[in-house]
Order: sequence, then structure tokens, then C-alpha cells
Amino acid sequence: MAKTILEFDVVICGSGPSGATAAFLLAKHGLKVALIDKEQFPRDKLCGGLLTEKSYKLIKSTFGNDFFEPDLIEFSSNKFEIFYAKQKILSAFSKKLFIYVDRKKFDFAILKRALDSGVNFFSKTKVIDIDIKNLLVFTNSNIFKGRYIIASDGVNSVIRGCLIKKGILVDKEYKDNLTLAMEIYNYEFTTDRASIYFGFTKFGYGWVFPNKKRTLVGIGALISKNKGLIKKQFKNFLNSIGLDAPKIFNAHLIPTGWISNRFGFDNILLVGDAAGFVDPITGEGIYYAVKTGQMSAEAILMSEKNKLFAEVNYNSLIQNIVSNLKRRRIYRNLIFGTKFRLVIKFFLLIILFLFKDRLLKFIHE
Ligand SMILES: Cc1cc2nc3c(=O)[nH]c(=O)nc-3n(C[C@H](O)[C@H](O)[C@H](O)COP(=O)(O)OP(=O)(O)OC[C@H]3O[C@@H](n4cnc5c(N)ncnc54)[C@H](O)[C@@H]3O)c2cc1C
Repeated sequence: MAKTILEFDVVICGSGPSGATAAFLLAKHGLKVALIDKEQFPRDKLCGGLLTEKSYKLIKSTFGNDFFEPDLIEFSSNKFEIFYAKQKILSAFSKKLFIYVDRKKFDFAILKRALDSGVNFFSKTKVIDIDIKNLLVFTNSNIFKGRYIIASDGVNSVIRGCLIKKGILVDKEYKDNLTLAMEIYNYEFTTDRASIYFGFTKFGYGWVFPNKKRTLVGIGALISKNKGLIKKQFKNFLNSIGLDAPKIFNAHLIPTGWISNRFGFDNILLVGDAAGFVDPITGEGIYYAVKTGQMSAEAILMSEKNKLFAEVNYNSLIQNIVSNLKRRRIYRNLIFGTKFRLVIKFFLLIILFLFKDRLLKFIHE
């Protein structure tokens, strides 16, 4: 049976923080928006749920001061500590709060804002392919046609894959910069601070984050630097803090340090994880997802006026983010690049004791 073609101004593929933010802003400006996701919402998402000051501020300025209803913040604290293997090397306070959310509730709250602004949401709709010339999105149900397409379908983006296959994007360095992250929820013990553990893996770290009734314990590291070892490293990390390894490991990829040659094609734009916009050192991605979701909407609204391709407008808007991520990738390679574990420890000690406040500024701002 022939599939129906549904027509919209903008078709947004993926309803995580990046896609739902773009959808909210575009619909608010009167565009007819389709937001597609393969999942039924609210859906779970493997994540530490940590919002830095810059994320918290950006989200409030985008969705309004009333966005963070008390129920949406699971925990907040300015306490943190850093370990090298089992040894604590710093216990301190940050001037700014770390906010912890539950991604199931948080992503659904953004989606609700989008729905309230008039977005047409299609759940259980999986993007399979696109026609870049005619701006068609093929899914397991209908075909969607837009004047613009936003690819917000996360780290395994189908649309990015299509652009790579066509030779428009170059995936050189993509695999080398992929982090594998594993995480468990522990309900047996609680904590009131973020604890970061170095020394269990290369080019990555372990974490213990507070949340309301549970503690989130995870590890994330570059696959290319820890071939086949990350599961074992996670087990060692869990055992070292007195936890048993689970039978089933929940794992997800994070693009940490891949800087694409292009961030779209004409009126197709890539945002958030689909574009590789994640901090290469910390793995923070929510800020970049919301920010680039916002910028993609702005680029499209500019195109409606100046008639340039949205990609041209988007490129000028994301310039600072791209240079910032490039700089952070250099720092990451410097900090984690040494082969000598003692040098890493020494580096960390110097940075923490001499530049603690600068480091916190670097993370929060
Ligand atoms: C273990 C882990 C811990 C993390 N911790 C933090 C943290 O503490 N703080 C932080 O800031 N960041 C963290 N991140 C990174 C953060 O989760 C991501 O950067 C962020 O979710 C990116 O948002 P996004 O909207 O681009 O993509 P996503 O949130 O991944 O959303 C993509 C959406 O697209 C949908 N989708 C995918 N494929 C298709 C398809 N073919 N068709 C239709 N829909 C599709 C998915 O269902 C999903 O809803 C963590 C990541 C991991 C893996």
C-alpha cells in the first residue's frame, strides 16, 4: 500500500533535548512542525542527569523560569570530590550548584512545552532514510516532507549516516572519538555529592552522582583507547567502591571529540549528539543539545527572511561552539594523552590545587 506523504514546514527527527527544543521554538514562531521519535514518551535515557550552571541557565532562558517545577529537580548540591583510583585527592565545594534530573521526566517536560506550542508529535515513528534532494523523510509509517529537516536523532543518527554515504559528510575521526558509557542505578546507598574517579580507564572517568532515591554510577571512556576493556574496567571500578557488577550492563555511545566537516546540507541541519556536539572532556551533552537545537531554529527563521540555505545561517551561529569544542579536544588529548599514569595524576593534582576555581568555571560556564 502506498504511504501517505505528510507535508510540514519543518520535519524534526528525534525528540531528545535538541529536537524538542528546536520544535518548541519553531512552532512558537508559527511554523508547521512535525516532531518524530521512534520511542513512546515518556521514555528512559541512559544519562548521569547532571546539569551544570550553563545548562540550567540556558534551559530556564529557553523555556521560562517556571520550567523547573520542584518535582523536576531530583537533587542539587555544590559538593564534589575527585579520586585517583581509590585515593581521594580533592573534596571541595563549587560556588555554583550542580543540578541532577531524571531524563525520563526532563525530556518529557521539554516535549510537553513543544506540544503546548503546537508541534505535531509522531511517536513510535522510526526514521529509515531520507531523500536529500526532495527533503523527504521515510519512516516505518508515513513519509514526511519538509521545507527544512532537522536531524536530532542522537549518536547513531540515521540522517548523518545518509549524508556520510552520499559523501557530503566525512566520518574520518568519528570512530576514534566515540565514548562507550555504562551506567547502573543503585538504590542501596545515597550520596550528597558528585564523585569523579580517574585511573580506572584511559581517556575517560568513572562517576557516582546523587539523585532522589537512587545513586547513578557509571563509567565512560574512548573505545579506541580501551579496546574491549571498558566492561572489565567498569567491574573493577564498581568493586573498588564496594558494589557488585550487574548481570546486564546498560551501555550507550557518546560522540566526544568528533568535529564534522559540515553540520548539514542546504536545508538539512544536524544538532546535538547527531552532529557530535558534546564536551570531549566531561561528556556533557545536554547543554550543547539545547543550544544547537535553539540555533537550528534561529537559522531556519533567518532563512525564512534572507532566503539563504539554513546551513549557511547555522554555520555562522555555531562557530563559537565549534571552536570551543576543538579547544577542549586539544586539552583532553593533553591531559589524557600521556602514557604515564603518574604524569596524569601529577597533572590532575596541579590543576586541582592551583586552578580549582578556574576548572569549575570551565565546567559551569
Ligand atoms: C551514560 C551517559 C551519561 C551521560 N551523562 C550526561 C550528564 O550527566 N549531563 C549531560 O549534560 N550529558 C550527559 N550525557 C550526554 C547526553 O545524554 C546527550 O548528549 C544528550 O542526550 C543529547 O541530546 P540529543 O537530543 O542530541 O539526543 P538524544 O537525547 O539521544 O535524543 C535522540 C532522540 O532521537 C530518537 N531517535 C534515534 N534514532 C531515531 C530514528 N531512527 N528515528 C526516530 N527517532 C530516533 C531517540 O529515541 C531519542 O529520543 C550522557 C550520556 C550517556 C550515554
